[in-house]
Amino acid sequence: MNFKISLVVPMYNESDNIGYFYERITSVLTDYIFEIICINDGSKDSTLNKLNELASKDKRVKVIDLSRNFGKEVAMSAGLKYAQGDIIIPIDADLQDPPELIPDMIEKWQEGYDVVYATRIIREGETFFKKATASIFYKFIRKITKIDIPADTGDFRLMSRQVVDAVNALPESHRFMKGLFSWVGFRQISIPYQREPRFAGKTNFNYWKLWNFAIEGITSFSFAPLQISMYMGFLVSIAALIYAFYLVVDTLLFGNSVPGYPSLMVAILFFGGVQLITLGVIGEYVGRIYGETKRRPLFLVRETINIELSEQDK
Ligand code: UDP
Ligand code: MG
Repeated sequence: MNFKISLVVPMYNESDNIGYFYERITSVLTDYIFEIICINDGSKDSTLNKLNELASKDKRVKVIDLSRNFGKEVAMSAGLKYAQGDIIIPIDADLQDPPELIPDMIEKWQEGYDVVYATRIIREGETFFKKATASIFYKFIRKITKIDIPADTGDFRLMSRQVVDAVNALPESHRFMKGLFSWVGFRQISIPYQREPRFAGKTNFNYWKLWNFAIEGITSFSFAPLQISMYMGFLVSIAALIYAFYLVVDTLLFGNSVPGYPSLMVAILFFGGVQLITLGVIGEYVGRIYGETKRRPLFLVRETINIELSEQDK
């Protein structure tokens, strides 16, 4: 084996998982050359201590300590920037993504694929509501964006050096990684797997975070919400014209007895609502433009361990 694997592992409060995660990885990858890039995403527990301990024993464990919690997408971006391997695999620290799949992924890569993504066929330990909302989200985003974001696929995937270089070169600070991974293209293939329940700890994503994540994904890759407002405008205008025509005919035939308070009220409220929603949608996009124009660095690193200076200067 003359290639190197980089595992990219974003970690937020994962201290109870690190030991077992390391064991599982090292037992699966005994025959391979690899590095484990752990990004401590501003954890509040002893994640960093545990990582330091591991890194002092095993130089293949590399640690990037971010200055605060930046969120999973940014933590992963940081890891991808530091990854040195020929193939790069983002993987969750909670062992929901089984490392046992990695040899299969490598096989596909050796057959000539640039991206091998793992598609979940079963999700264990997740509520019906989460599964249902996830499924609706994937269906919706596939419909309204032009890029092909595979359904039921997380960030767990193998990517070649070339693909990761392409992702790293993308300048945006709003990083919906799944979308970016798909956007770059290349030869992609899926392999099925069973998503397991978390090993320890609890999920960091509540429904409010997931909702925002969904908005992030949709607005990062589609103008459809803006276009929907336009079409709604057209529809309402046409309806108004028809109603106006009806009013003229009605008045000519039967005269005007000044009724219409309820219909007036309904119309006002309806248009008020439509206008506010439309403003909100535009605001979403304006906010995103604002975020991008600030050109702030994506993340700040407090300290790195087992990463040489030359790499750090990148
Ligand atoms: N994570 C992170 N920063 C965050 C939230 C999560 O780095 O702000 C990491 C977390 O440690 C885990 C992965 O992202 O390795 C997935 O998180 P989680 O298991 O909570 O998400 P879920 O599997 O429920 O979607
Ligand atoms: Mg998880």
